[in-house]
Amino acid sequence: MESIASNIIDLKAQLPEQVRLVAVSKTKPLEDIMEAYNTGHRIFGENRVQEIVMKHPLLPDDIEWHMIGHLQRNKVKLISKLVSMIHSVDSYRLIETINVEALKINRVINCLLQIHIAEEESKFGLNFAEAKDLVKLCRENNFNNICIRGVMGMATFTDDMVQVRSEFKNLKKIFDKLRSGLFAGDKRFSEISMGMSGDYKIAIEEGSNIVRIGSLVFGDR
Ligand SMILES: *Cc1c(COP(=O)(O)O)cnc(C)c1O
Repeated sequence: MESIASNIIDLKAQLPEQVRLVAVSKTKPLEDIMEAYNTGHRIFGENRVQEIVMKHPLLPDDIEWHMIGHLQRNKVKLISKLVSMIHSVDSYRLIETINVEALKINRVINCLLQIHIAEEESKFGLNFAEAKDLVKLCRENNFNNICIRGVMGMATFTDDMVQVRSEFKNLKKIFDKLRSGLFAGDKRFSEISMGMSGDYKIAIEEGSNIVRIGSLVFGDR
């Protein structure tokens, strides 16, 4: 059987217990999301603000929406009530805006620091030094309405799995350095979001505990 329901059930059966699946539903219609939802799945990822804004009111309230794509500051207010985690924090100014908008609605928004691990220039993300500086600034400024839960990264788009693995290893290393350094003793800093349809198995071998998978669940876009 080939269906969204069977895809998601089969995929989740393969994932180790500590690994959570974000089912990436970008560009997919509401009925596809409901098919996944009806298997019991609750975590969905989108990469565009407009799509979250459009889909959220039309779908069940207990869905956890994860923003996984590049986020512009002027759009944060549109999703501040709607998302349970933002994977794509890549600047101090962005997380400052997230904190401001979360404070307005009395929430704490979970964030991941997007780290640049790929070879390509075009991918967004921070390097290790920038990530550390961002965390320090958040603390100096008492940002109490964001919670930095871990890191996110995307490997280079390539068939070279040796390269992909080494990029994931690098992200894990950065995560470990942050965890034992600036986040020592903070159990909330625990998430490594890495791995997509083509590379999630390698990502899990290298320490991922959140995989973001679209096409393997919903089919090609
Ligand atoms: C689209 C997307 C994914 C999922 O990609 P698939 O190859 O379809 O699994 C994961 N992460 C991000 C940031 C994406 O934009």
